[in-house]
Amino acid sequence: MNIKNNIKLLQRELGDTKCKLIAVSKTQPVEKILEAYHTGQRVFGENKAKELEKKWNDLPKDIEWHMIGHLQTNKVKYIAPFVSLIHSVDSGKLLEEINKQGNKANRVIPCLLQVHIANEESKFGLKYDELLQLLDTVNNFPFIKVTGLMGMSTLTDDQAVIRKEFTQLKQYFDDLKSKKFSKNIEMKELSMGMSSDYPIAVELGSTMVRVGTAIFGERNKV
Ligand SMILES: *Cc1c(COP(=O)(O)O)cnc(C)c1O
Repeated sequence: MNIKNNIKLLQRELGDTKCKLIAVSKTQPVEKILEAYHTGQRVFGENKAKELEKKWNDLPKDIEWHMIGHLQTNKVKYIAPFVSLIHSVDSGKLLEEINKQGNKANRVIPCLLQVHIANEESKFGLKYDELLQLLDTVNNFPFIKVTGLMGMSTLTDDQAVIRKEFTQLKQYFDDLKSKKFSKNIEMKELSMGMSSDYPIAVELGSTMVRVGTAIFGERNKV
């Protein structure tokens, strides 16, 4: 895998769009992340809090670290002092804990709310009515800033299914954009698209793609 070339190609592909590249470095060693870093990539995504904390410790401090995976409440404390964006907030309990840890770390933590758009039961995320309910509670959390939504499509080769799910998420995003919420909610980021489906996501209005395999190659199964 030529990490440098892969990133350059992706950057070029995204170049004319306003979409940001999150390099998903989960399971990748520090050396590989540094290879990506030396191409100018500064935004990386991880899905485990402890691994994220360790990499933040071991790598240059101008990296912006994003938490993209399911986050357990008891792990929030490891990342609260430095995390740039949590993509995967899917409950009021988690929001409350992030607020508490933000208070301790004395910083406002930017968050996306994860919406369930896939067919599969196993995928995390909020249904639309749960999303609306959660948004109504955000004014209670001064150490949270909600900046948008995240979603994952069904794992399928059927492009029509993926297209339908991303279109649905974009529709939610646009609907919420036009609504009035508390001032710590600002709908500006739409995190959708991974290695297998980012071209569709970009076409349908994504502002952040989370790409791992297409940069670093297949991950070792853990
Ligand atoms: C691993 C992961 C990705 C990246 O997946 P690739 O297929 O390797 O691009 C994106 N989003 C989330 C939430 C992930 O866990």
